[in-house]
This record gives sequence, C-alpha cells and structure tokens, in this order.
Amino acid sequence: MPLVDTHCHLQSPRFDDDREAVIARCLEQLDWLVVIGDDIPSSEGAVALIRDRVYATVGMHPYYAEGVDDACLDRLRELAATPGVIGLGEIGLDYFNEYAPRDVQAVAFRRQLDLAIELDLPVVIHNRDSDEDAYAILAEYADRLPGCVMHCFGSDATYAERFLALGFYVSFAGNATFSKAQQLRDAAAVVPLDRLLVETDAPYLAPVPLRGKRCEPWHVVHTAAVIAEVKGVSAEELGKVTTDNARRFYRVA
Ligand SMILES: [Zn+2]
Ligand SMILES: [Zn+2]
Repeated sequence: MPLVDTHCHLQSPRFDDDREAVIARCLEQLDWLVVIGDDIPSSEGAVALIRDRVYATVGMHPYYAEGVDDACLDRLRELAATPGVIGLGEIGLDYFNEYAPRDVQAVAFRRQLDLAIELDLPVVIHNRDSDEDAYAILAEYADRLPGCVMHCFGSDATYAERFLALGFYVSFAGNATFSKAQQLRDAAAVVPLDRLLVETDAPYLAPVPLRGKRCEPWHVVHTAAVIAEVKGVSAEELGKVTTDNARRFYRVA
C-alpha cells in the first residue's frame, strides 16, 4: 500500500553501522521518505542522503537556537538550493528541554520562518511544551508560509483544532500508538483526513509493538494502522490519503 515516512533522521549516528541496508528495506515498503535536519552537520548529512525517493529538509532545531546567526542562515540557504531539499526544518520551540533561553528560541524560530518564506519552502515545526508561544508566532506567519506541519504532534485536540484553523497539517509519530497516549489519539480524531500526515521521527519513538527498539522509517506502518483505526478507515485508505497529503505538502511529484 502507498505509505510515506514524512519525518526521520537517517543521518543519525545510530544508523552508522547499517544505514544503506536500512534505507534499502525502507524503500521496499515505503513510496518515499524525508530525512530531516536538526543543525548544520545533520542538515548536511540529510542532503548527502538525497537520491531517488529520499528527500531532505534543512534547519536548526530549537535545541541549537543559539547557533542561528547570519552565517548559519547563509549555509541553510546554500543547502536548500540542492535538488531534493523540499522543506525547512525542523524548527520551532522546545520548553521541555529548554537548552536555549526562550527568547533566543523565538528569534531563531522567526528568522527561519522568514527564510522559509524567502526560499518558498514548507516548514516542519517542532513544538514541545510550548503550545501557546508556538501558536502565537505561527499565527503571525500563517498567511505567508508556503506550508506548515506540526510534526510529532504532542498536544491535545483543542490545539490540533487551533493549528488546523491556521491551515496547517498535523503529523503523528510512534508515540500516538503508546497505550497511555489517548490524548494524541483524541487529537488525531479531530484532524480531517486531508490534513493528516504520519511519520516515525526515527531513530526515536518506535511504535508499538516495536517500542524501545531503534526506530526505522518503515515502522510508520504501525503508526498508520493505529491512526487508521482512530479515523475509522482501512490502513490502505489511510496510507493512500496521507501519501497524497505528503505529496501536496512537500510538493513532491
Ligand atoms: Zn522534533
Ligand atoms: Zn525530528
């Protein structure tokens, strides 16, 4: 069935021993996948993995907000010019791990949202324990952004509806399969099928029944099955609709 992993980190050192084998088995099961950058080295690593059916994004995670200066933005501009770079991210706010002060995170976030508008790239948003501030910033930019997805959605149905009202996509990862994560499944329930994406965030957050293992992009099949159940559609239909959405969001032909 059609299926895409819209967010993974295959450049992670956790794949250093067997990366090519992992990519090969993922491409057997998935239509395509997107390797997401976190900082400059990992954005370079993502770009280096671009090939048929493997795309990349570049960006600075809020963990590394202090590194977002003019030189950094210039390097992101250069990397973004590579064919196969289809988005800017992941960018956003993280108040759970507040590795950079909140005001520094906000400036780095805004500068990269400006860059996405300049480069005409959709944005991949990381938002952890920072709903209200992320919403406030994104609401200012929503009309100008070429596309926006709330990745690894971790908030409740009310916030899902608020981000949907801005025109955004909402993406669910393996944590939505965890038994205690009813709040995430309730959030998925309010997301219309045509705004829904699925992802792994590999190597993190392996879904049930693989929880605790190193996550690989093909594991998205388990997350898709759970979300399909929430939405009351077949896994096949969920795969088809989220693949169509991913193609539209990332403008992949
Ligand atoms: Zn993230
Ligand atoms: Zn990620």
